[in-house]
Amino acid sequence: MIVSEKIENKEIAKQYKELLRISYQTLSEDNKKLIRTAFDTAVHAHRNQRRKSGEPYIHHPISVAKIVAQEIGLDATSIAAALLHDVVEDTEYNFEDLEKLFGPGVAKIVEGLTKISKLSKESNVSLQAENFRKLLLTLNDDIRVIIIKIADRLHNMQTMDAMPEDKQEKIASETLYIYAPLAHRIGLYNIKNELEDLSFKYTEPNRYESIKNNIEDSKEEQDQYIKSFSEIVQFALAEEGLEYQIKGRSKSIFSINRKMTTQNIPFQKVFDKFAIRIIYNATHRNEKFLAWKIYSIVTDHFTPNPTRLRDWITSPKSNGYEALHITVMGPENKWVEVQIRSERMNEIAEKGYAAHHKYKQGEQKDIGIDSWLDKLQEVLESNTENPVDFVENFKLSLYSKEIFVFTPDGEIKSLPKGSTALDFAFNIHTEVGMKTRGARVNGKLVPLSRTLKSGEHVEIITSESIKPTANWLDFVQTSRAKSKIRSLLNEEKKKIAEDGRESLRRKLKQLKITLNDKTTAHMLRYFNLNSSLDLFYRIGLGTIENKQLKAFSNDFNSTFLNFFKKRIRKQNPVYKKEAQEKITQRFDTLVFGKQKESLKHGLAPCCNAIPGDPVFGFITINDGVKVHKKDCPNALSLQSNFAYRIINAKWVDSSSEEFSATLKLSGIDNMGIVSEVTQSISKLMSVNINKISFDSEDGIFNGLISVSVKNKTILNKLVKHLKKVNGVDKVLRE
Ligand code: MN
Repeated sequence: MIVSEKIENKEIAKQYKELLRISYQTLSEDNKKLIRTAFDTAVHAHRNQRRKSGEPYIHHPISVAKIVAQEIGLDATSIAAALLHDVVEDTEYNFEDLEKLFGPGVAKIVEGLTKISKLSKESNVSLQAENFRKLLLTLNDDIRVIIIKIADRLHNMQTMDAMPEDKQEKIASETLYIYAPLAHRIGLYNIKNELEDLSFKYTEPNRYESIKNNIEDSKEEQDQYIKSFSEIVQFALAEEGLEYQIKGRSKSIFSINRKMTTQNIPFQKVFDKFAIRIIYNATHRNEKFLAWKIYSIVTDHFTPNPTRLRDWITSPKSNGYEALHITVMGPENKWVEVQIRSERMNEIAEKGYAAHHKYKQGEQKDIGIDSWLDKLQEVLESNTENPVDFVENFKLSLYSKEIFVFTPDGEIKSLPKGSTALDFAFNIHTEVGMKTRGARVNGKLVPLSRTLKSGEHVEIITSESIKPTANWLDFVQTSRAKSKIRSLLNEEKKKIAEDGRESLRRKLKQLKITLNDKTTAHMLRYFNLNSSLDLFYRIGLGTIENKQLKAFSNDFNSTFLNFFKKRIRKQNPVYKKEAQEKITQRFDTLVFGKQKESLKHGLAPCCNAIPGDPVFGFITINDGVKVHKKDCPNALSLQSNFAYRIINAKWVDSSSEEFSATLKLSGIDNMGIVSEVTQSISKLMSVNINKISFDSEDGIFNGLISVSVKNKTILNKLVKHLKKVNGVDKVLRE
């Protein structure tokens, strides 16, 4: 026992020395002291703990600290925090202890890490998604918290064999769902690949093994190919006096599998299994110049595919990635991607954040992480959407490739691929977004839903009379724009509800009922609504009409009958069914995808969605679309493993769905009638003008107005208003 403890302690001491040796950052004496104290504290705190594998627990924090020090290259504070990351969670130490020993910097990071690890113990799906949001909120405290958390997850994944199988799958799926996208966004590409591969190993072990073996088998062939590539360019490169290395870089197992599945091809048919990397020595001044020199040499010998040139040097990705990518027709007439990077760029690609900060000193270059974090914070704080939706939207923005477009002033803006003109407007400013009337791309008017491409010039046309509509949610893809529109729509809803409340008070008064909490509660039950906001909103819109109110008052006034009914309601399942049907009538149809198509579908038996539930569609192989609730126990694994088979689904509420109508106006032409007409329309809330045209001949004018409204009541109101405009004679519906 004593002997084995001695061996263990020796091993621990060895690990510690190695930790200092491999640190990417140069450590000062003070740094080393800090790390030493953290190390001693952690060893002492975890002295009685062992991991599932049987080894002393301290090996885990040391390994995490090594990843942080070497692979990610963070500073001494982070290394100390990594050593201490499980101390508060698992041992008798608390924050005050750590603060006294290490000061607020280290203690704060450990506190953030402890918060996250408490969160991830919850198992419910949407809770987990909600936790993800909370996790992201800790990002702004100190980005080092999330980076150390990623390192912690990486080491847990590397040592997961000791875990029970069901836990392995859960952890792997969570890693794929949350941590790999985060690592990608922060620019930790190597770690992202490793996380994905390890997750894949535990979710689909057989497939993982088979692809891994295939890669090993083709390794020799790959080396041979890279050799013949270098032989062709080496003289020209040497002639220019360049110092460089040529390396092959295999695609990850996970991404090869994704290619095989999405394109339905065998391993041998995946043609871009590896890329060639040319890493060259350069000074700050000539590095861009040399990149293009190498480009020119490579393309002298191999024909480039002009559509596959990516210049991430002139405009780096927002996570800081820089490189020149080209695809050329290489030896044996095979297309191969060539990545040209200076050593500095290569370090950034491998270490991301830390390398950036190392090079950033003395140089004013924004790597975008900070502004990304600011935007993220804004989205998180204004967020009102369903947690699963939020994570989905957010993941899109984590993974999405970027496009670069120009403002009218020639300023360059980066947006996620797939962003629309309306996304652009909200990216500039919320004030611009909410007043967007139209957009010009390269000088031409385009619909707001038009997807933007890199290099385009975008100009937003605003108008004071514009209000966001629910349709806008389908026009945008960025989570920032979505959450802004949602909160604007909510404000609008509240305004309408305020008016609705007043008009309800008046209408009830006529029916000799006072509007108070009790009557409101009765009405909610009677109309089967969830909140007073919903009730007042519907009154404001006019979806609940006077005769329905009258029916309610009869019901309400006969207290005896009411009491009786309540009892029936409790006892009689038929009544429940009726109430259910009421909801069904409100949400009459399920629609799918962005185009809101109706598709053949069935409800999945695992969660039994009912109309009104937040749902999504899962495209099955033989059985059409299966509809699941968003908080279905299977949702997380479906969404994380089969993201490409998920389709948006929505119950349509016919009473608040918009439809468009065209009105024909005629009357006597007078000065300013057009502006009077449009003003009268914009005074009415929840009416939007789609198109308007006026003709006038011999003092008579004819106008066509196409509007979007929520229901007929509003349309009738509009007609009434228009008839009051001075000069208008007739208003007809087309
Ligand atoms: Mn840990």
